[in-house]
Amino acid sequence: MAGKKYIYLFSEGRADMKQLLGGKGANLAEMTNIGLPVPPGITITCEACNEYIRLGRQFPEGLEEELKARLKDLEALNAKKLGDPKDPLLVSVRSGAPVSMPGMMDTILNLGLNDESVKGLAANTNDERFALDCYRRFIQMFGDVVLGIDHDKFEAILEKHKERLGVKFDNELTPAALQEVIAEYKDLVRKEVGRDFPQDPQEQLRMAVRAVFDSWDNPRAIVYRKINKIPDDLGTAVNIQTMVFGNMGPTSGTGVAFTRNPATGEKGIYGEYLINAQGEDVVAGIRTPKPIAELKKEMPDTYRQFEEICALLEKHYRDMQDIEFTIERGKLYILQTRVGKRTAAAAVKIAVDMVEEGLISQEEAILRVDPDQVVQLLHRRVDPEAKVQVIAKGLPASPGAASGKVVFDADEAERKGLDGEKVILVRNETTPDDIHGIVQAQGVLTARGGMTSHAAVVARGMGKPAVVGCGDLKIDVGGKRFFVGSLEVKEGDVISIDGATGNVMLGEVPLVEPQLSGEFQTLLQWADGVRRLKVRANADTPEDARRAREFGAEGIGLARTEHMFMGADRLPVVQQMILAKNKEEREAALAKLLPMQQGDFYEILKVMEGLPVTIRLLDPPLHEFLPSAEELLVEITRLEATGQNPEELEAKRDLLREVRAREEFNPMLGHRGCRLGVTYPEVYAMQARAIFRAVAQLKKEGINVLPEVEIPLVIHVNELRRLRQLVNEVADEVKKETGVDFDYKVGTMIELPRACATADEIAEEAEFFSFGTNDLTQTTFGFSRDDAEAKFLPQYLEEKILKENPFMVLDRQGVGKFMRMAVELGRKTRPELEVGICGEHGGEASSVEFCHLIGLNYVSCSPFRVPVARLAAAQAVIKEKKDKEASYSTE
Ligand code: PEP
Ligand code: MG
Repeated sequence: MAGKKYIYLFSEGRADMKQLLGGKGANLAEMTNIGLPVPPGITITCEACNEYIRLGRQFPEGLEEELKARLKDLEALNAKKLGDPKDPLLVSVRSGAPVSMPGMMDTILNLGLNDESVKGLAANTNDERFALDCYRRFIQMFGDVVLGIDHDKFEAILEKHKERLGVKFDNELTPAALQEVIAEYKDLVRKEVGRDFPQDPQEQLRMAVRAVFDSWDNPRAIVYRKINKIPDDLGTAVNIQTMVFGNMGPTSGTGVAFTRNPATGEKGIYGEYLINAQGEDVVAGIRTPKPIAELKKEMPDTYRQFEEICALLEKHYRDMQDIEFTIERGKLYILQTRVGKRTAAAAVKIAVDMVEEGLISQEEAILRVDPDQVVQLLHRRVDPEAKVQVIAKGLPASPGAASGKVVFDADEAERKGLDGEKVILVRNETTPDDIHGIVQAQGVLTARGGMTSHAAVVARGMGKPAVVGCGDLKIDVGGKRFFVGSLEVKEGDVISIDGATGNVMLGEVPLVEPQLSGEFQTLLQWADGVRRLKVRANADTPEDARRAREFGAEGIGLARTEHMFMGADRLPVVQQMILAKNKEEREAALAKLLPMQQGDFYEILKVMEGLPVTIRLLDPPLHEFLPSAEELLVEITRLEATGQNPEELEAKRDLLREVRAREEFNPMLGHRGCRLGVTYPEVYAMQARAIFRAVAQLKKEGINVLPEVEIPLVIHVNELRRLRQLVNEVADEVKKETGVDFDYKVGTMIELPRACATADEIAEEAEFFSFGTNDLTQTTFGFSRDDAEAKFLPQYLEEKILKENPFMVLDRQGVGKFMRMAVELGRKTRPELEVGICGEHGGEASSVEFCHLIGLNYVSCSPFRVPVARLAAAQAVIKEKKDKEASYSTE
């Protein structure tokens, strides 16, 4: 489409143009317009990138001409020309997507240098070494990023010269040595790509822009988008910005700072810098930088100015900022600002503090914290009472504690992690190419790098424990070991790291359960004041019930009774019950189970005093409680071979016959749930009796309990009618036998499409509905979770046939439609019908939002996810309100 505007000067953009200009471009524009010292630049839009990809990697029509014209504007702003042999304009070329993807795409610095302009740079700065160093860095970056030449090949040349001269750092190389390095770099380029290093700056620029567009689809960016659920079609903008130099001697430097601590949320500038260094040196984690507090001593005026800018930016954006700056010969420049990534703990603290500082409202604070991220706050910590052997200490980059076997390589970490082994990835520093290993590791430990190094940023984003910049570690990568003093730790040895203190410990360490911090409690209380949905927990034991209450659960939405059948003292009795030859035998076994179940229910109901407890009667197919036919066959064959123990052999053969008789082709769609209740009513009767006897006992003790008896897997009202009557009869008997009167409800799980379609009929017999969206998802999709996730679902997600795993994020269009229908039909029959959800979706933010939107009364989830659901339920209310306001304003 000719005539389209693809390029904006920084002065033409605004912060709210992120979608078009990318996050970095939009913020550079905003900062330019509020008068901050930003080196001038231009931004090529994300739209141009998408067009480029759509056209099969061709610049869209008009882009090249526009680039030339906009470059002239940039040259005019700087009063310099790209490639001018006397006083060249140099630019950086960087990616910048609408969503921040730190370190995932490419950057090229010092563009515009060639054999001639490098002389001009040397003359103007009066520093030949500096100019040659810039040129050598440029060839190296361009060679790597644009021409695809392995970075290590350049490093090998550089190392060779450093060794030859006996120096340690790049900036100790003499101009003569740098000349040689450059000559060898150029030879390398010729050899690798069969052409000379491009000398025409316009060509350099075009090639760099292409490379940045292409980097949108490099493997690490693709992996990052997948992990962070960033759509693939956003594209990246390209920012072309005037270079300023942090490597112009001792009054120059570069750094990264957060306006608040990204790990804890503590207020105050937090960051690090390097004197005489260029941009990427800090983030790459190659040299461990100095804490920003030292800048205050080293350059007090610059520091003061920086402090003012930080305060201004925080106020302007009303959020914590992550700022990159450069000092060129004492003059401060701001190169980038963005909303800073932070741990969940920091997110909560910052949100609550900002409300108290009057910067944001409570509702904004609630929206600022990502519910999926707060699960991190429920990480276990190292037991403070435990005796641990601390062998080293690094920077506490990302909280949480983890133990695992040491591995030194990201591929190995990925392999072992996928095999179910717990590993800690130990590296000198990590790079974006290590991301697949970090994903599968329990935690990350690096010898170098600061709090803003790649490892630290990525680990915080993923909520993984990380300790970085642990200088005591001497890693011998080739020998697969590291040393701390004389202590040797080899690959496969177990270590633990504590990302909250920076401690590195030998062996596995004991952990303790998490607690909610004061700020988190405050935020959740605000959320409780906003939300309409109640939040319950799925809990089968008194301990789980207690934890759920601590985390704010307002009841139990699902107590699965089958787990109570599994203990070593129970299983033999349960097997007796199943294998009983007649009713008498079965009743004898049930009589033994009854007091055990009664004890279970007593404890749970007691812990949940005053709150509703939904107890589901037996659900899984009975063969789950019996040994498998394969196991039995192996034993029978063994007994046959030995010829001894004929009675045992006969018993096993009997058992095998029974097991075979119960075999089903598709047990999850077979004889389970309320079908068991219909065919073995005495099992359900026993469970109901155990519940009601526990209730009567508690009532006698003066404890208020609210039991809800739940029938699973109902497809027809007649099933429920029969089983409800059974439960009512047992209740009456218990009332009579104990002399205690009590209230209870009888309701049903809704977990099959037919139940949704006939919910009006089912509601005649049900006092409550609870959506079992695990089964409802399986039966709506027509595939079993285990088979799907192991076989084809990964490909479906990869190829975007499905956008999300429907077992994790509720499928609104399909499963959700059935749910909506069931709520409407159910409430038509019984307007006051209480409806909840107890499938795993009940603790996932987007599913919680959907449950709010279709008018459920509560969600129920695992105890650890209760805080997630409380927050998500409040966000659902606020978002709904905002959406309504937005639709009024557009009407
Ligand atoms: C469900 O199906 O969603 C449910 C909660 O039951 P279960 O997972 O025990 O089958
Ligand atoms: Mg179910």
